[in-house]
Amino acid sequence: MAETVKPGDLDEDKYERSKRLEWFDLDKIQRTRVLVVGGGAIGNETVKNLILAGFRKITLVDMDRVVRSNLNRCIFFDEEDAERRRLKVEAIVEKARKLDKEVDIDYRTEMIQKLPEDFIPSYDLVLGCLDNVAARLHLNAHCYRHGIPYVDAATQGFVGKVQVVLPKETPCLECGMNKTHVKIMEERFSCTGEDVTFHVPKMAAEITTTSVVSAIQTRESIKLVLGMEKELIRNVFYYDGMRNVSEILELDRNPECAHHPVSEK
Ligand SMILES: [Zn+2]
Repeated sequence: MAETVKPGDLDEDKYERSKRLEWFDLDKIQRTRVLVVGGGAIGNETVKNLILAGFRKITLVDMDRVVRSNLNRCIFFDEEDAERRRLKVEAIVEKARKLDKEVDIDYRTEMIQKLPEDFIPSYDLVLGCLDNVAARLHLNAHCYRHGIPYVDAATQGFVGKVQVVLPKETPCLECGMNKTHVKIMEERFSCTGEDVTFHVPKMAAEITTTSVVSAIQTRESIKLVLGMEKELIRNVFYYDGMRNVSEILELDRNPECAHHPVSEK
């Protein structure tokens, strides 16, 4: 005889609705060690999405402190954090633990480039939520070398992009960059490829683009973890909120890109 389910029983299981999805595998998601680099607008949104999706092992890297201009697009920051100039990672971790007391979340406050060589390879998946080229290229290079999937997200105003980099399979981040990008490595950088060297002091941003881009970044992470590689974005997902369009931009592996051995070219 089938087990009787009383009304309300199913509501006690946090992931009951997710478990109804035939492709969903909570165990795989919970076991994945995720590195999130950047605790700004995208980082906030993506940590929230990861936790709601069931991810449990998260490390966050950021060295900045909360200021009031963060408060219009960061779910984990509040007025008190800004007044106290709290470290962004501290505020995110404290509130993330309230969102899910079982989440195993920690942080580092060094620049990603200064962390030891074995830091990045200790994760299964790396998410870039950054606003500068140098850190992005560092993640791209190290993830590619160590065979770790890298999902990069970026926004500017109404425009955003997400790129999934699968070592040995897809083009990498640097394949899609031109010489101008590399030259402005230390400058704040437009995700769309436009030179924003003179865009002082920081990029314009609003929450709706951040939400869209972060959702795609998290969704591609879920696909990666669940082995849905055929369904992954293998090029660049581009979103234009002003025109209300999204499209996949074709990107070829650049024969001059240093990250691909001759055998891969
Ligand atoms: Zn490349």
